[in-house]
Amino acid sequence: MAATHVGCGIEGPTLPRRLQTSERHTVAEFRILALGGDGIGPEVLASGLKVARAAARLHAIRLSVSHDLLHGAAWDRWETFCQDETVAAAHAADAVLVGAVGGPAWDDIRVAGGPERQDGLMRLRRELDTFIGLRPAWHWPQLGDHAPIKRELANAADLLILREMCGGIMFAQPRGQTRKDGMRVGFDTAAYNEREVRRFACAGFELARARRSLLVSADKANVLESSKLWREIVSEIGLEYPDVELRHMYADNCAYQMVMNPRQFDVIIGCNLIGDILSDVAGSISGALGLLPSACLGARRCGRFKGIFEPVHGSAPDIAGMGAANPVGMVLSVAMMFEYGMCRRDVAQRIRLATVRAMENGARTPDIGGESATKDVTEAIVSELG
Ligand code: NAD
Repeated sequence: MAATHVGCGIEGPTLPRRLQTSERHTVAEFRILALGGDGIGPEVLASGLKVARAAARLHAIRLSVSHDLLHGAAWDRWETFCQDETVAAAHAADAVLVGAVGGPAWDDIRVAGGPERQDGLMRLRRELDTFIGLRPAWHWPQLGDHAPIKRELANAADLLILREMCGGIMFAQPRGQTRKDGMRVGFDTAAYNEREVRRFACAGFELARARRSLLVSADKANVLESSKLWREIVSEIGLEYPDVELRHMYADNCAYQMVMNPRQFDVIIGCNLIGDILSDVAGSISGALGLLPSACLGARRCGRFKGIFEPVHGSAPDIAGMGAANPVGMVLSVAMMFEYGMCRRDVAQRIRLATVRAMENGARTPDIGGESATKDVTEAIVSELG
Protein backbone atom coordinates (compact mmCIF):
# COMPACT_ATOMS: atom_id res chain seq x y z
CA MET A 1 0.00 0.00 0.00
CA ALA A 2 1.22 3.52 -0.67
CA ALA A 3 2.47 5.43 2.36
CA THR A 4 0.02 7.88 3.82
CA HIS A 5 0.04 10.19 6.78
CA VAL A 6 -2.34 8.66 9.22
CA GLY A 7 -1.76 10.64 12.36
CA CYS A 8 -0.02 9.69 15.54
CA GLY A 9 -1.04 6.60 17.45
CA ILE A 10 -2.31 4.75 14.44
CA GLU A 11 0.76 2.55 14.62
CA GLY A 12 -0.88 0.89 17.58
CA PRO A 13 0.66 0.00 20.90
CA THR A 14 3.65 -2.04 19.87
CA LEU A 15 4.42 -4.82 22.29
CA PRO A 16 7.96 -4.92 23.60
CA ARG A 17 10.13 -7.80 22.53
CA ARG A 18 9.69 -9.66 25.81
CA LEU A 19 5.94 -9.68 25.32
CA GLN A 20 6.00 -10.15 21.58
CA THR A 21 5.49 -13.39 19.82
CA SER A 22 8.36 -14.34 17.61
CA GLU A 23 6.51 -15.91 14.75
CA ARG A 24 3.43 -15.30 12.73
CA HIS A 25 0.49 -17.48 13.45
CA THR A 26 0.93 -20.49 11.22
CA VAL A 27 -1.96 -22.83 11.96
CA ALA A 28 -4.20 -23.61 9.03
CA GLU A 29 -7.17 -21.82 10.50
CA PHE A 30 -7.66 -19.03 13.07
CA ARG A 31 -10.72 -19.72 15.20
CA ILE A 32 -12.74 -16.78 16.47
CA LEU A 33 -15.52 -16.97 19.01
CA ALA A 34 -17.83 -14.04 18.17
CA LEU A 35 -20.10 -12.70 20.90
CA GLY A 36 -22.27 -9.79 19.84
CA GLY A 37 -23.82 -9.22 23.25
CA ASP A 38 -26.46 -6.51 23.59
CA GLY A 39 -27.59 -3.15 22.22
CA ILE A 40 -25.25 -2.00 19.46
CA GLY A 41 -22.91 -4.93 20.23
CA PRO A 42 -24.17 -7.22 17.43
CA GLU A 43 -24.21 -4.27 14.98
CA VAL A 44 -20.57 -3.33 15.51
CA LEU A 45 -19.52 -6.98 15.73
CA ALA A 46 -20.98 -7.58 12.25
CA SER A 47 -18.85 -4.68 10.99
CA GLY A 48 -15.75 -6.03 12.69
CA LEU A 49 -16.26 -9.48 11.21
CA LYS A 50 -16.84 -8.08 7.74
CA VAL A 51 -13.54 -6.22 7.88
CA ALA A 52 -11.77 -9.22 9.45
CA ARG A 53 -12.96 -11.53 6.67
CA ALA A 54 -12.00 -9.09 3.93
CA ALA A 55 -8.53 -8.53 5.41
CA ALA A 56 -8.02 -12.27 5.96
CA ARG A 57 -8.97 -12.97 2.35
CA LEU A 58 -6.39 -10.49 1.11
CA HIS A 59 -3.69 -12.22 3.15
CA ALA A 60 -4.84 -15.80 2.48
CA ILE A 61 -5.65 -16.37 6.15
CA ARG A 62 -8.43 -18.82 6.93
CA LEU A 63 -10.79 -17.64 9.61
CA SER A 64 -13.44 -19.78 11.17
CA VAL A 65 -16.06 -17.94 13.17
CA SER A 66 -18.52 -19.41 15.64
CA HIS A 67 -21.20 -17.34 17.30
CA ASP A 68 -22.70 -17.45 20.76
CA LEU A 69 -24.79 -15.30 23.08
CA LEU A 70 -23.41 -13.26 25.96
CA HIS A 71 -24.86 -11.34 28.86
CA GLY A 72 -28.37 -9.96 28.26
CA ALA A 73 -28.91 -12.00 25.11
CA ALA A 74 -27.77 -15.12 27.00
CA TRP A 75 -29.96 -14.27 29.96
CA ASP A 76 -33.02 -13.95 27.77
CA ARG A 77 -32.35 -17.40 26.30
CA TRP A 78 -30.93 -19.40 29.22
CA GLU A 79 -31.28 -17.27 32.38
CA THR A 80 -27.53 -17.12 32.82
CA PHE A 81 -25.25 -14.29 31.72
CA CYS A 82 -22.62 -16.68 30.40
CA GLN A 83 -23.04 -20.40 29.90
CA ASP A 84 -20.30 -22.86 30.88
CA GLU A 85 -20.34 -23.94 27.22
CA THR A 86 -19.47 -20.40 26.17
CA VAL A 87 -16.51 -20.38 28.54
CA ALA A 88 -15.35 -23.71 27.10
CA ALA A 89 -15.71 -22.37 23.55
CA ALA A 90 -13.69 -19.27 24.54
CA HIS A 91 -10.91 -21.49 25.88
CA ALA A 92 -10.93 -23.52 22.68
CA ALA A 93 -10.90 -20.50 20.34
CA ASP A 94 -7.79 -18.62 19.22
CA ALA A 95 -9.45 -15.27 19.99
CA VAL A 96 -12.71 -13.92 21.36
CA LEU A 97 -14.38 -10.93 19.72
CA VAL A 98 -17.03 -9.12 21.75
CA GLY A 99 -19.43 -6.35 20.68
CA ALA A 100 -20.72 -4.90 23.95
CA VAL A 101 -22.90 -6.06 26.80
CA GLY A 102 -25.48 -4.67 29.20
CA GLY A 103 -28.58 -2.55 29.20
CA PRO A 104 -31.41 -1.42 31.41
CA ALA A 105 -33.35 -4.68 30.95
CA TRP A 106 -30.67 -6.65 32.79
CA ASP A 107 -28.92 -4.09 35.04
CA ASP A 108 -31.05 -4.88 38.10
CA ILE A 109 -31.03 -8.68 37.86
CA ARG A 110 -29.32 -10.16 40.91
CA VAL A 111 -27.73 -13.60 40.66
CA ALA A 112 -26.06 -15.41 43.55
CA GLY A 113 -22.40 -16.34 43.16
CA GLY A 114 -20.31 -13.20 42.78
CA PRO A 115 -19.62 -10.70 40.02
CA GLU A 116 -18.77 -13.35 37.43
CA ARG A 117 -22.37 -14.56 37.65
CA GLN A 118 -23.70 -10.99 37.33
CA ASP A 119 -21.83 -10.09 34.16
CA GLY A 120 -21.05 -12.42 31.27
CA LEU A 121 -18.11 -10.40 29.96
CA MET A 122 -16.50 -10.11 33.38
CA ARG A 123 -16.80 -13.87 33.74
CA LEU A 124 -15.01 -14.43 30.45
CA ARG A 125 -12.21 -12.02 31.36
CA ARG A 126 -11.75 -13.77 34.66
CA GLU A 127 -11.98 -17.31 33.28
CA LEU A 128 -9.43 -16.55 30.55
CA ASP A 129 -7.34 -14.53 33.04
CA THR A 130 -6.93 -11.70 30.54
CA PHE A 131 -5.63 -9.26 33.11
CA ILE A 132 -3.90 -6.70 30.85
CA GLY A 133 -6.41 -4.35 29.26
CA LEU A 134 -4.72 -2.36 26.48
CA ARG A 135 -6.68 0.72 25.58
CA PRO A 136 -4.85 2.97 23.15
CA ALA A 137 -6.16 6.44 22.43
CA TRP A 138 -4.83 9.19 20.26
CA HIS A 139 -5.87 12.49 18.80
CA TRP A 140 -7.33 12.06 15.32
CA PRO A 141 -6.23 15.01 13.18
CA GLN A 142 -8.73 13.77 10.57
CA LEU A 143 -11.60 14.89 12.80
CA GLY A 144 -10.56 18.55 12.76
CA ASP A 145 -12.28 20.49 15.49
CA HIS A 146 -14.83 17.80 16.26
CA ALA A 147 -12.91 16.54 19.32
CA PRO A 148 -14.07 18.38 22.44
CA ILE A 149 -10.52 19.07 23.60
CA LYS A 150 -8.94 22.00 21.77
CA ARG A 151 -6.79 20.92 18.85
CA GLU A 152 -3.72 22.79 20.14
CA LEU A 153 -3.95 20.84 23.41
CA ALA A 154 -4.72 17.40 21.99
CA ASN A 155 -2.67 17.56 18.79
CA ALA A 156 -0.17 14.64 18.76
CA ALA A 157 -1.53 13.18 21.99
CA ASP A 158 -0.94 9.44 21.89
CA LEU A 159 -1.45 7.39 24.99
CA LEU A 160 -2.00 3.88 26.13
CA ILE A 161 -4.20 3.26 29.13
CA LEU A 162 -3.58 -0.08 30.76
CA ARG A 163 -6.45 -1.30 32.87
CA GLU A 164 -6.07 -4.23 35.25
CA MET A 165 -8.97 -6.49 34.22
CA CYS A 166 -9.26 -9.40 36.62
CA GLY A 167 -9.05 -8.08 40.17
CA GLY A 168 -9.75 -5.12 42.43
CA ILE A 169 -13.07 -3.74 43.55
CA MET A 170 -14.96 -5.32 40.65
CA PHE A 171 -14.16 -8.85 41.85
CA ALA A 172 -12.94 -8.83 45.46
CA GLN A 173 -15.12 -10.21 48.22
CA PRO A 174 -16.99 -9.46 50.39
CA ARG A 175 -19.52 -7.36 48.56
CA GLY A 176 -23.23 -7.02 48.90
CA GLN A 177 -26.08 -5.15 50.48
CA THR A 178 -27.25 -5.35 54.06
CA ARG A 179 -29.06 -3.33 56.68
CA LYS A 180 -27.37 -1.46 59.46
CA ASP A 181 -28.88 0.96 61.98
CA GLY A 182 -32.18 0.70 60.17
CA MET A 183 -30.67 1.74 56.84
CA ARG A 184 -29.73 -0.07 53.63
CA VAL A 185 -25.97 -0.34 53.15
CA GLY A 186 -24.11 -1.39 49.99
CA PHE A 187 -20.45 -2.40 50.20
CA ASP A 188 -17.58 -3.59 48.01
CA THR A 189 -14.00 -4.52 48.75
CA ALA A 190 -11.12 -2.76 47.03
CA ALA A 191 -8.39 -5.38 47.34
CA TYR A 192 -5.33 -6.47 45.38
CA ASN A 193 -2.68 -8.95 46.34
CA GLU A 194 0.92 -8.34 45.42
CA ARG A 195 0.99 -11.02 42.72
CA GLU A 196 -1.86 -9.32 40.88
CA VAL A 197 -0.20 -5.90 41.03
CA ARG A 198 3.25 -7.21 40.21
CA ARG A 199 2.34 -9.07 37.01
CA PHE A 200 0.27 -6.13 35.78
CA ALA A 201 2.89 -3.50 36.65
CA CYS A 202 5.56 -5.55 34.82
CA ALA A 203 3.40 -5.48 31.69
CA GLY A 204 3.06 -1.71 32.12
CA PHE A 205 6.80 -1.15 32.35
CA GLU A 206 7.45 -3.43 29.38
CA LEU A 207 4.93 -1.57 27.28
CA ALA A 208 6.27 1.81 28.36
CA ARG A 209 9.78 0.68 27.44
CA ALA A 210 8.59 -0.14 23.93
CA ARG A 211 7.08 3.34 23.56
CA ARG A 212 8.43 6.58 25.06
CA SER A 213 9.50 5.09 28.42
CA LEU A 214 7.19 7.20 30.54
CA LEU A 215 4.85 5.42 32.92
CA VAL A 216 2.23 7.12 35.05
CA SER A 217 0.62 4.97 37.73
CA ALA A 218 -2.78 6.36 38.72
CA ASP A 219 -4.06 5.47 42.19
CA LYS A 220 -5.76 6.82 45.29
CA ALA A 221 -2.88 6.11 47.67
CA ASN A 222 -3.82 9.20 49.66
CA VAL A 223 -6.97 7.48 50.95
CA LEU A 224 -7.05 3.77 50.05
CA GLU A 225 -5.00 0.97 51.61
CA SER A 226 -5.17 -1.13 48.44
CA SER A 227 -3.73 1.85 46.55
CA LYS A 228 -0.93 2.26 49.09
CA LEU A 229 0.12 -1.35 48.43
CA TRP A 230 -0.32 -0.78 44.69
CA ARG A 231 2.01 2.24 44.80
CA GLU A 232 4.58 0.38 46.90
CA ILE A 233 4.73 -2.57 44.51
CA VAL A 234 4.78 -0.43 41.38
CA SER A 235 7.74 1.48 42.90
CA GLU A 236 9.53 -1.80 43.65
CA ILE A 237 9.03 -3.04 40.08
CA GLY A 238 10.18 0.35 38.85
CA LEU A 239 13.64 -0.31 40.29
CA GLU A 240 13.98 -3.09 37.71
CA TYR A 241 13.25 -0.61 34.93
CA PRO A 242 15.63 2.33 35.55
CA ASP A 243 15.25 3.39 31.91
CA VAL A 244 11.50 4.00 32.37
CA GLU A 245 10.48 7.22 34.09
CA LEU A 246 7.85 6.41 36.70
CA ARG A 247 5.42 9.00 38.05
CA HIS A 248 2.71 8.29 40.58
CA MET A 249 -0.38 10.42 40.18
CA TYR A 250 -3.65 10.52 42.08
CA ALA A 251 -6.38 9.28 39.78
CA ASP A 252 -8.54 12.40 40.14
CA ASN A 253 -5.65 14.63 39.16
CA CYS A 254 -4.76 12.21 36.35
CA ALA A 255 -8.25 12.58 34.85
CA TYR A 256 -7.90 16.36 35.09
CA GLN A 257 -4.42 16.32 33.54
CA MET A 258 -5.59 14.11 30.69
CA VAL A 259 -8.04 16.79 29.66
CA MET A 260 -5.77 19.76 30.38
CA ASN A 261 -2.54 18.44 28.91
CA PRO A 262 -2.94 15.01 27.28
CA ARG A 263 0.42 15.20 25.50
CA GLN A 264 2.33 14.71 28.77
CA PHE A 265 1.23 11.04 28.89
CA ASP A 266 2.61 7.91 27.32
CA VAL A 267 1.48 4.82 29.27
CA ILE A 268 -0.93 5.09 32.20
CA ILE A 269 -1.62 2.11 34.45
CA GLY A 270 -4.58 1.85 36.78
CA CYS A 271 -6.58 -0.70 38.73
CA ASN A 272 -9.78 -2.15 37.31
CA LEU A 273 -11.94 0.79 38.38
CA ILE A 274 -9.53 3.64 37.74
CA GLY A 275 -8.45 2.16 34.39
CA ASP A 276 -12.10 1.87 33.38
CA ILE A 277 -12.81 5.51 34.12
CA LEU A 278 -9.60 6.88 32.61
CA SER A 279 -10.11 4.97 29.38
CA ASP A 280 -13.47 6.68 28.90
CA VAL A 281 -11.82 10.04 29.60
CA ALA A 282 -9.44 9.14 26.78
CA GLY A 283 -12.49 9.14 24.50
CA SER A 284 -12.61 12.91 24.78
CA ILE A 285 -9.03 13.11 23.49
CA SER A 286 -9.88 10.93 20.49
CA GLY A 287 -13.18 12.69 19.93
CA ALA A 288 -15.67 9.92 20.70
CA LEU A 289 -16.02 6.77 22.75
CA GLY A 290 -16.96 4.84 19.61
CA LEU A 291 -13.43 5.26 18.23
CA LEU A 292 -11.63 3.44 21.04
CA PRO A 293 -10.43 -0.16 20.63
CA SER A 294 -9.20 -2.53 23.28
CA ALA A 295 -7.51 -5.86 23.81
CA CYS A 296 -7.58 -7.87 27.02
CA LEU A 297 -4.53 -10.09 27.07
CA GLY A 298 -3.44 -12.80 29.44
CA ALA A 299 -0.14 -14.57 29.81
CA ARG A 300 1.52 -15.69 26.62
CA ARG A 301 0.97 -19.34 25.81
CA CYS A 302 2.59 -21.33 23.01
CA GLY A 303 4.21 -18.17 21.73
CA ARG A 304 1.15 -15.97 21.43
CA PHE A 305 -1.53 -14.18 23.37
CA LYS A 306 -5.02 -15.42 23.97
CA GLY A 307 -7.16 -12.32 24.02
CA ILE A 308 -10.61 -10.84 24.22
CA PHE A 309 -10.88 -8.05 21.68
CA GLU A 310 -13.68 -5.55 22.19
CA PRO A 311 -14.35 -1.86 21.74
CA VAL A 312 -14.14 0.24 24.91
CA HIS A 313 -17.70 1.51 24.59
CA GLY A 314 -20.82 -0.08 26.04
CA SER A 315 -24.04 -1.25 24.44
CA ALA A 316 -25.32 2.31 23.82
CA PRO A 317 -29.02 1.49 24.27
CA ASP A 318 -29.91 5.05 23.19
CA ILE A 319 -28.85 4.34 19.59
CA ALA A 320 -29.31 0.55 19.37
CA GLY A 321 -31.05 -0.58 16.19
CA MET A 322 -30.71 2.80 14.49
CA GLY A 323 -27.78 1.81 12.27
CA ALA A 324 -25.85 4.78 13.64
CA ALA A 325 -23.26 3.04 15.80
CA ASN A 326 -19.67 3.95 15.08
CA PRO A 327 -17.93 0.70 14.08
CA VAL A 328 -14.39 2.12 14.25
CA GLY A 329 -13.66 1.03 17.87
CA MET A 330 -14.67 -2.51 16.91
CA VAL A 331 -12.74 -2.49 13.63
CA LEU A 332 -9.60 -1.27 15.39
CA SER A 333 -10.12 -4.01 18.01
CA VAL A 334 -10.11 -6.48 15.13
CA ALA A 335 -6.79 -4.93 14.06
CA MET A 336 -5.49 -5.60 17.59
CA MET A 337 -6.69 -9.19 17.24
CA PHE A 338 -4.60 -9.63 14.10
CA GLU A 339 -1.63 -8.01 15.81
CA TYR A 340 -1.63 -9.71 19.19
CA GLY A 341 -3.72 -12.81 18.68
CA MET A 342 -2.23 -13.79 15.34
CA CYS A 343 1.10 -11.92 15.24
CA ARG A 344 0.07 -10.29 11.96
CA ARG A 345 1.04 -6.67 12.45
CA ASP A 346 1.02 -6.25 8.68
CA VAL A 347 -2.69 -7.08 8.53
CA ALA A 348 -3.40 -4.89 11.54
CA GLN A 349 -1.67 -1.94 9.89
CA ARG A 350 -3.62 -2.47 6.69
CA ILE A 351 -6.89 -2.30 8.64
CA ARG A 352 -5.80 0.84 10.51
CA LEU A 353 -4.78 2.59 7.30
CA ALA A 354 -8.03 1.63 5.60
CA THR A 355 -9.99 2.98 8.58
CA VAL A 356 -8.20 6.31 8.50
CA ARG A 357 -8.60 6.62 4.74
CA ALA A 358 -12.29 5.86 4.93
CA MET A 359 -12.66 8.56 7.56
CA GLU A 360 -10.62 11.03 5.52
CA ASN A 361 -12.96 10.34 2.59
CA GLY A 362 -15.96 11.30 4.69
CA ALA A 363 -17.21 7.97 6.04
CA ARG A 364 -18.22 9.11 9.52
CA THR A 365 -21.06 8.25 11.83
CA PRO A 366 -23.02 11.03 13.59
CA ASP A 367 -21.06 10.75 16.86
CA ILE A 368 -18.01 12.14 15.04
CA GLY A 369 -19.88 14.75 13.07
CA GLY A 370 -20.82 12.72 9.99
CA GLU A 371 -23.98 11.38 8.44
CA SER A 372 -22.93 7.88 7.42
CA ALA A 373 -24.62 4.75 8.67
CA THR A 374 -22.68 1.94 10.38
CA LYS A 375 -22.88 -0.21 7.26
CA ASP A 376 -21.63 2.59 4.98
CA VAL A 377 -18.58 3.21 7.16
CA THR A 378 -17.93 -0.54 7.20
CA GLU A 379 -18.21 -0.77 3.40
CA ALA A 380 -15.89 2.21 3.02
CA ILE A 381 -13.27 0.55 5.24
CA VAL A 382 -13.56 -2.73 3.33
CA SER A 383 -13.16 -0.98 0.01
CA GLU A 384 -10.10 0.95 1.28
CA LEU A 385 -8.49 -2.35 2.26
CA GLY A 386 -7.87 -2.85 -1.44
P1 NAD B 1 -22.10 3.46 26.51
O1 NAD B 1 -20.64 3.37 26.21
O2 NAD B 1 -22.95 2.36 26.04
O3 NAD B 1 -22.67 4.85 25.90
C1 NAD B 1 -22.21 6.11 26.32
C2 NAD B 1 -22.52 7.14 25.23
O4 NAD B 1 -21.66 6.92 24.11
C3 NAD B 1 -23.95 7.03 24.69
O5 NAD B 1 -24.39 8.32 24.37
C4 NAD B 1 -23.81 6.22 23.42
O6 NAD B 1 -24.78 6.47 22.44
C5 NAD B 1 -22.42 6.65 22.94
N1 NAD B 1 -21.75 5.57 22.22
C6 NAD B 1 -21.13 4.49 22.76
N2 NAD B 1 -20.65 3.71 21.81
C7 NAD B 1 -20.94 4.30 20.63
C8 NAD B 1 -20.69 3.96 19.26
N3 NAD B 1 -20.01 2.87 18.90
N4 NAD B 1 -21.15 4.80 18.31
C9 NAD B 1 -21.83 5.91 18.62
N5 NAD B 1 -22.08 6.29 19.90
C10 NAD B 1 -21.65 5.49 20.89
O7 NAD B 1 -22.20 3.64 28.10
P2 NAD B 1 -23.50 3.61 29.04
O8 NAD B 1 -24.65 4.28 28.35
O9 NAD B 1 -23.03 4.13 30.32
O10 NAD B 1 -23.81 2.08 29.24
C11 NAD B 1 -24.82 1.35 28.52
C12 NAD B 1 -24.70 -0.11 28.89
O11 NAD B 1 -23.44 -0.62 28.44
C13 NAD B 1 -24.74 -0.38 30.40
O12 NAD B 1 -25.53 -1.53 30.64
C14 NAD B 1 -23.30 -0.64 30.78
O13 NAD B 1 -23.17 -1.50 31.89
C15 NAD B 1 -22.79 -1.30 29.52
N6 NAD B 1 -21.35 -1.19 29.28
C16 NAD B 1 -20.76 -2.26 28.68
C17 NAD B 1 -19.42 -2.21 28.35
C18 NAD B 1 -18.83 -3.37 27.62
O14 NAD B 1 -19.56 -4.19 27.06
N7 NAD B 1 -17.53 -3.50 27.54
C19 NAD B 1 -18.66 -1.05 28.62
C20 NAD B 1 -19.31 0.02 29.21
C21 NAD B 1 -20.65 -0.05 29.53
